[in-house]
Amino acid sequence: MKTQVLIVGGGVAGLTAALKLAKHGINVIVVEKSPHLGHAYKGELIQPKTIQLFERAGIYESFSSAWTTFSTIETSELDVHLKPMLRSSMDYKQLPPPYQYAAMLPHSEIKRLLLKEVKQYKAFTLLQPATFEQLEENKAIIKQGKQKTTIAFEFIIGAEGVNSRVREQAGIERKRHVYEHDFLTVSFPAPSGLKHGHLIATKDRFLGLFPLPNGYVRTVYLIRKGEYKTWRKGPLQVFYDHYVSLFPALDGYVQNIKEWKAIQLMVPIRQHANHYVKDNIALIGDAAHSVHPMAGEGMNLAIQGADCLGELLIDLYERRKGNAFLNQYESVHKKRVKAIMNLSHLGGLAYGKEGKAWQRSRTFALKQLLNNETLLTKYMFNISGLGFWPFSVKDSVTLVKRSKTTKVLNEMEQYQYDVEDDYPWKHQMR
Ligand SMILES: Cc1cc2nc3c(=O)[nH]c(=O)nc-3n(C[C@H](O)[C@H](O)[C@H](O)COP(=O)(O)OP(=O)(O)OC[C@H]3O[C@@H](n4cnc5c(N)ncnc54)[C@H](O)[C@@H]3O)c2cc1C
Repeated sequence: MKTQVLIVGGGVAGLTAALKLAKHGINVIVVEKSPHLGHAYKGELIQPKTIQLFERAGIYESFSSAWTTFSTIETSELDVHLKPMLRSSMDYKQLPPPYQYAAMLPHSEIKRLLLKEVKQYKAFTLLQPATFEQLEENKAIIKQGKQKTTIAFEFIIGAEGVNSRVREQAGIERKRHVYEHDFLTVSFPAPSGLKHGHLIATKDRFLGLFPLPNGYVRTVYLIRKGEYKTWRKGPLQVFYDHYVSLFPALDGYVQNIKEWKAIQLMVPIRQHANHYVKDNIALIGDAAHSVHPMAGEGMNLAIQGADCLGELLIDLYERRKGNAFLNQYESVHKKRVKAIMNLSHLGGLAYGKEGKAWQRSRTFALKQLLNNETLLTKYMFNISGLGFWPFSVKDSVTLVKRSKTTKVLNEMEQYQYDVEDDYPWKHQMR
């Protein structure tokens, strides 16, 4: 078998890249080892930049008729008696129109819709279930059942998640950081009033709630390493009590979870490959970068990187450029990843550490952030992915010292990524 582009991994990253390429008539084979779309809870929060890319790809309609949207994230800090010390909100409405909201859709549904789109194109082939085993000179060994197949390729993309074999075999190193906490995650029918995102924290707990379509809510609950094992030995009442104590409206709803095995353990990892590109090999999604889930960015970075690499490959084929042209992908995407990775890491630290003193500092910093229009706008703008507005030394001082509320600066536009920032090589080619 042979193809122009071989993509290993049919997750959101692999399917996004495949869609771009197949739509432009570039032959692409996706190799996916799992026989189904997967029921695991993974990224479900779709940030504004990803929504913009769906529009550019002409797939916005099929997604927007399936997802649910929200604009506000309510944040609460509760004291030891579970009384509010802080209650405030962050809003996507501060962002430039029309991207003043985020969307939620189950991960398997996101993959199903991407797959439905890409299957329309003749240039697309899916091998599933099939496992990538080995890289040889411009060839990949793929295992399907007991059969081994060799696929010759012009380019190979490693999109198989954190434990990427393509990355390993290409000899690309990565840095990895495991956090001291884990999360439990599960979705269930929501109380009817739950229309916003909610972040609720105490000195040692954190609960995140996000509305899903069909009246469901996706929840994430922070626990200490090893705690899940102990909990699982007892009745589910422990789990219900934790949820209801932080968000009483969940009483009567969280009890829809009937067995521990419905609840998924999620181990946050920060991992970054030293390079995303080597010769005719490229890495996208979690294979290249994985971030702490606190800011809901992993899937978004995966889709955004796949979009960038896909566009670059289309231009590479059209303009008959050599392998070195692939480095443009790394130079555009890596600095965006670094910025979001730091932001997600800080979120992980802020909520991941425990103790009253730590909560006091976090509450103080949160108050400063929420009362300062400039800081809050920067934060929402940066997590939206629409651009990156760097935090200044003055911003850091504002977070730790009492200071006056400043008026929002009308600078957002200058930091917003436009098409030329997303694909800068295009105007160099003109
Ligand atoms: C519980 C959880 C919650 C999350 N929540 C969010 C969120 O709210 N927002 C957000 O933006 N991100 C979130 N993330 C992160 C997000 O899910 C990932 O960053 C994103 O799915 C990465 O996509 P990917 O396509 O790179 O990798 P994956 O989704 O891991 O897909 C890789 C695919 O490759 C396949 N594969 C692996 N090895 C091989 C092989 N050898 N041969 C063939 N196929 C192979 C796998 O079966 C898989 O289908 C969450 C992650 C988890 C685990």
